[in-house]
Amino acid sequence: MLPSRLKRFLASALFLAALPPEPADAQAEDRLARARAAMVEEVRDDARETGYATGRPVLDEAVMSAMARVPRHEFVPPEAVASAYLNRPLPIGHGQTISQPFIVALMTDLLRITPGRKVLEVGTGSGYQAAVLAEMKAEVYSMELIPELAQSAARTLARLGYTNARVKAGDGYAGWPEHAPFEAIVVTAAPEEVPPALLEQLAPGGRMVIPVGPRHDVQHLLVIDKQADGRTVTRKSLPVRFVPLVPGK
Ligand code: SAH
Repeated sequence: MLPSRLKRFLASALFLAALPPEPADAQAEDRLARARAAMVEEVRDDARETGYATGRPVLDEAVMSAMARVPRHEFVPPEAVASAYLNRPLPIGHGQTISQPFIVALMTDLLRITPGRKVLEVGTGSGYQAAVLAEMKAEVYSMELIPELAQSAARTLARLGYTNARVKAGDGYAGWPEHAPFEAIVVTAAPEEVPPALLEQLAPGGRMVIPVGPRHDVQHLLVIDKQADGRTVTRKSLPVRFVPLVPGK
């Protein structure tokens, strides 16, 4: 670069750096906030339409307000930011996806989160579901098999200030025995059978929400309640489609 061009470049760079916060950014933030509000309305519609199968035509307002606050666009790759508030799953790399907002809301609702509840999530992925749980003030333990995803989800959660969500790279089939028992367990990838270690780590009176079924086919969301005597009662909810829960090596 010629010295004079270099000087001009530096001058314009300094000028840009000295500008007040860009109005373009504020506009973008505003657009994202409006898109997020529209997404929440779509989630309400989906809940109403599937109420016959889920028993939850109206989701808990605390869940809806968490959905309205968590910035989903922070959990998707840069090229997907414009689609972040569509009520759809989106690719997050490594062949994995961030779940559809309605499914995240439904699973969170079924978990009956109250502040301080200890929750295990298996399948951190982007960290979005963990953020929704953290936003509801649960004590969140989340496990992810792919180390790169675990790392980037942990970074995103920390950057957004979700100090009540911990992420660990590891095989969720084994659960997280050091922190068991959990009052709620949510699995966001589908095994063909309920992993026994997770059933063991569910506290009496606790609930697990898990998609179970064949790989790359339709699975069913199961709601499993562990009674005080340790016996479990299982209810079948919506047909869903999740990526497979892969056994670790
Ligand atoms: N809850 C995520 C979506 C998860 S997609 C979100 O909000 O973005 C399912 C995730 O489960 C994938 O990231 C996949 O890598 C992970 N996974 C698959 N098998 C696993 C296992 N045995 N243990 C932990 N995570 C697993």
